[in-house]
Amino acid sequence: MAESSPRSLSGSLPRSFRDTPDTFLAQSLGGFVASHPDARWDDHGFIARATPVVTDAGGPAVAVISGGGSGHEPMHSGFLGEGMLAAAVPGHLFTSPNAVQITEATRWANDAGGGRGVVHIVKNYTGDIINFRVARQGLPEVDTREVIVADDVATGGSADPESSDGPGRRGTGATILVEKVAGAAAHRGYSLNDVTRVARTVADNSRSMAAALAPGHLPTSGRDTFDLDEGEMEIGVGIHGEPGVERTGVSEAAEVASRLVDAIVDDLGLTAGDSVIGLVNGLGGTTLLELNLVFDHVLRRLTDAGIRVARSFVGSYVTSVNMAGVSVSLTRLGKGTADAAGTGSTAGTEILDLLDAPTSAPAWPQTIGVDPAPVDATMHVPEDIPGGGPEDGTNEWLSAFVAGVVGAVDDLTELDRLAGDGDFGTNMQAAFGDLPQPLTGSDADVLAALANRLFVRAGGTSGAVFGTLFREMSVTAAGGADAGLTAGELAQALQRALVAVTELGGAAPGDRTMVDALAPAAAAAKDAVTGAGASSPDAAPDLAAIHAAAMEGARSTADLSGHKGRASYLGDRARGVIDPGALVVAWLFGGAGEMN
Ligand code: ADP
Ligand code: MG
Repeated sequence: MAESSPRSLSGSLPRSFRDTPDTFLAQSLGGFVASHPDARWDDHGFIARATPVVTDAGGPAVAVISGGGSGHEPMHSGFLGEGMLAAAVPGHLFTSPNAVQITEATRWANDAGGGRGVVHIVKNYTGDIINFRVARQGLPEVDTREVIVADDVATGGSADPESSDGPGRRGTGATILVEKVAGAAAHRGYSLNDVTRVARTVADNSRSMAAALAPGHLPTSGRDTFDLDEGEMEIGVGIHGEPGVERTGVSEAAEVASRLVDAIVDDLGLTAGDSVIGLVNGLGGTTLLELNLVFDHVLRRLTDAGIRVARSFVGSYVTSVNMAGVSVSLTRLGKGTADAAGTGSTAGTEILDLLDAPTSAPAWPQTIGVDPAPVDATMHVPEDIPGGGPEDGTNEWLSAFVAGVVGAVDDLTELDRLAGDGDFGTNMQAAFGDLPQPLTGSDADVLAALANRLFVRAGGTSGAVFGTLFREMSVTAAGGADAGLTAGELAQALQRALVAVTELGGAAPGDRTMVDALAPAAAAAKDAVTGAGASSPDAAPDLAAIHAAAMEGARSTADLSGHKGRASYLGDRARGVIDPGALVVAWLFGGAGEMN
């Protein structure tokens, strides 16, 4: 029997979870509706709220609906709920919904709201604009209004999409802010005209710009949404992967953030004293870790310019399937929108008030920053650089060790990646990376300082285990003369450390941990002062002999699958890979940085 090829799904690589391209959207919508209690699928082709569309007083309410091509989730379906959207009309991926779907959604929404009219929130794309218009024309009996969102400054053009020559600015991230404010106003009982007014205020005062590091991948076509070489980024990219204003090499996040912020500030004409709503939006393939970092830059840039961020949102709300990218949106609130209590510009205060109103829409964030200020979250580290001045003398032994470890950080990480979780080198870098070379001070002082750094800076198992190793060694060293560890003291120190590490982590020789190097090292050190041909315990230690024993132990870990530590999850995958912790133990006695 012929093996079925992984390319069998319409000739493209199956990088998405799907059955067939044709059934993909319907199945996904089915899953959405089934898992959302306030969502119901209407066979006319839209998602309707399941609970009544009413004001907070329980009376008839204006209905706010939106829609557009799928692929931007959670927009729009995730914003269905009390105080936000009454219905969402999904098109096929990146394709506007058709006029019949929109007509039926509008008719339903008007009935559901008790006949007070329907506001359409429409992103500025020709297909969306036209289909929503046809729907309105086909329903003269329903009072409808249209609010166009056209916020993307990467697409130049008139502030008024109606009068511009080209299609005008694309509608992107600001859409959810418009939907929120309109939905909250409707829930408060605003009239159709007033809901439209506040929605237009937000739309008119919002601008966005995006940057992408990698394209999105469409589950239906099985193709990337555009081509971008590795190491390149697209500045000004659209939410369907449309070209931006420039393709350039990837730069630091600070630079990207500044570029996006500056373009928006410029376009909105913001100056010191202005207040804004700030949204850092992920485009589907960017981690929240990165989005938070970008927000930090955006906030600092705006704060430096004297622009106050009255509310902040960070998350992936308006995506482009799984594009690795970020967009920044700012909404101008006016000058002097001073606080949440509502003094300052009236329009800005009203907008903030509606933005702050509760909603049951599942994708609307629970946590909204109010007046955020830049935070320095640098972890506090006590002064722990060993020794004092040059008068303390260079510690050749431990300087060589630390230099070797720091120089091999990438190789150590690679070993842990192959047979662990890939953070060992990073942990060593965090502990030792910025130590001034050479290290000065006695063995006891330097060992104590290294232990301290491992405990307070490195994370993971290695921070605690190596911290314990160095702490125990330093205690023995401190008991001896200042001149450096003697052969006898080193034997004692290693024995003591072995006992402490074993007690702490429970690893025995053969478990594929640093103990596989530490145990033979301790035995060799002991042998050097008590065994056959032993030297005096007061002599300098024979590091070469201890190194040879430890190295042999370290090499033996390549033949062991893990029993302890995270490497244990990998079982046989660890075979053939030396345990990085064991290697570092061996480097303590020489050859620091040698990989085998
Ligand atoms: P994590 O396992 O938390 O990712 P690191 O990658 O920082 O920790 O450290 C992994 C190293 O820790 C391994 O190379 C191994 O030498 C050592 N190690 C793991 N478990 C133990 C243990 N129980 N006792 C002693 N050392 C251990
Ligand atoms: Mg690890």
